Amino acid sequence: MNFAGQLTHPVFRAVGEEADRKGQSAFAIGGFVRDMLLGRPSKDIDIVVEGSGIELAKAVAKVLGAGKVSVFKNFGTAMFCHGDMEVEFVGARKESYERGSRKPIVEDGSIEDDQNRRDFTINAMAFRLNSDGFGDLVDPFDGLTDLEEKTLRTPLDPDVTFSDDPLRMMRAVRFASQLGFHVEKKSLDSIERNANRLDIISAERIHVELNKILLSERPSVGFKLMFNTTLLHRFFPEMVDLKGVERKNGIGHKDNFYHTLEVVDNVSETSDHLWLRWAALLHDIAKPPTKRFHPDHGWTFHGHEDRGARMVPKIFKRLKLPMDHQMRYVQKLVLLHLRPIALTKEEVTDSAVRRLLFEAGDDVDDLMTLARADITSKNEAKVERYLKNYDVVVRKLVEVEEKDRVRNFEPPISGEDIMAAFSIPPCRPIGAIKNIIKDAIMDGVIPNQPDDARALMMRCGPKVLAEWKSIQFRLSEGEFNEKGARETFDTWLTQFEV
Ligand code: ATP
Ligand code: MG
Repeated sequence: MNFAGQLTHPVFRAVGEEADRKGQSAFAIGGFVRDMLLGRPSKDIDIVVEGSGIELAKAVAKVLGAGKVSVFKNFGTAMFCHGDMEVEFVGARKESYERGSRKPIVEDGSIEDDQNRRDFTINAMAFRLNSDGFGDLVDPFDGLTDLEEKTLRTPLDPDVTFSDDPLRMMRAVRFASQLGFHVEKKSLDSIERNANRLDIISAERIHVELNKILLSERPSVGFKLMFNTTLLHRFFPEMVDLKGVERKNGIGHKDNFYHTLEVVDNVSETSDHLWLRWAALLHDIAKPPTKRFHPDHGWTFHGHEDRGARMVPKIFKRLKLPMDHQMRYVQKLVLLHLRPIALTKEEVTDSAVRRLLFEAGDDVDDLMTLARADITSKNEAKVERYLKNYDVVVRKLVEVEEKDRVRNFEPPISGEDIMAAFSIPPCRPIGAIKNIIKDAIMDGVIPNQPDDARALMMRCGPKVLAEWKSIQFRLSEGEFNEKGARETFDTWLTQFEV
């Protein structure tokens, strides 16, 4: 079959002509071919050359007037950008693996050798680029049929393909989720057999695939596949623990694995935000360790949001995911995920809404998306009632934010202001006074205005300082130690009324 008519990008003819001149055979291969045949856009083209890819890359870049050629000598590859396309050149390779080693022995090879070492038949197809036969599809494993039948199949015996590079098992799941393909039975059985080989793969390579699964249209497809093949068990035991329903006295609870996946799919319908999808994935992660059964009121998961937030850094660290603002964002959403719906259980007060706005800050919209996605139940009346309440909270959030602007709350009085007003050095009461002001604003006792805040400071500050002084005196008399002094002060503060 010939696809010359579709290979319109000027790079293809240029590669063919330069390869002709050098007496080499050159092919476009892999993801680009697959995606073109699927009608999916690509940003990169992989070229395989029998012989040196580096020399050919330089020659092609020259005739195209493309920018700088980056050469990676150790890998025998070269790359340049042309327009918005990244074009990578590599010499055809033959790989052989020794059992127990991750590092293949690589030698120069033919296009056939190169196709043999690819992961799936749909990723092993190539277009010939030399002028004689330009656009011919080179498809030794009938990837075209697999593409039409939406099948993922390994070119060689799957046990060989998967044990040579176990990451390919994750790639199988990722393509299934991303492209809506199914994994052919023999390959699927082989994944199950070889799942434990994933242990030799670095966390970085695993999380790249995991993130692609999460970014697919329905991530649940990939997660169910990973569970069923036990790939998930290799790197994500906390998620595996979500699976299952326990019954006591005839009372069961939700299967939190399927519930979680439903929430992830729901979020994915409205947002492409990777970390929001991560938050959905982890929102109930601490349900198994917090699960209790009470004869009177059934199953509870008290504190799972708090415990879950504390599990997030551990999970991120193990998977080598970014530990800074992305992790903190996920942690925050896990911690707050129950708050919007909890609001609806009582009268929605301005004060509770202000606190939620303050704690969620700019992430409040994402938090609401998560909370909305979390409303899943087989009981339609229940879902409808929750959704109605949810709408009430959304309206209230908008109304309160318009009125009070607490979403990006900045304390109107700083620590320096307090030290200056009472001529005191840095000490514990300063934080306490700041808190009193913040709470008063959140509770609507005073408006969010500097003048009102200052007046409150002048009224409450002396009382707080006097109490602190008296506690310091009792400390010096040996009534309690430092820790006891702090606790006494904190207890006094909780009872303090402005
Ligand atoms: P995407 O670009 O969407 O991640 P892709 O299939 O194009 O998917 P790349 O990493 O760009 O993936 O790799 C390009 C090609 O290289 C693949 O289509 C496949 O032929 C081959 N390939 C990549 N990784 C592997 C692997 N681990 N084992 C075998 N072949 C691979
Ligand atoms: Mg690619």
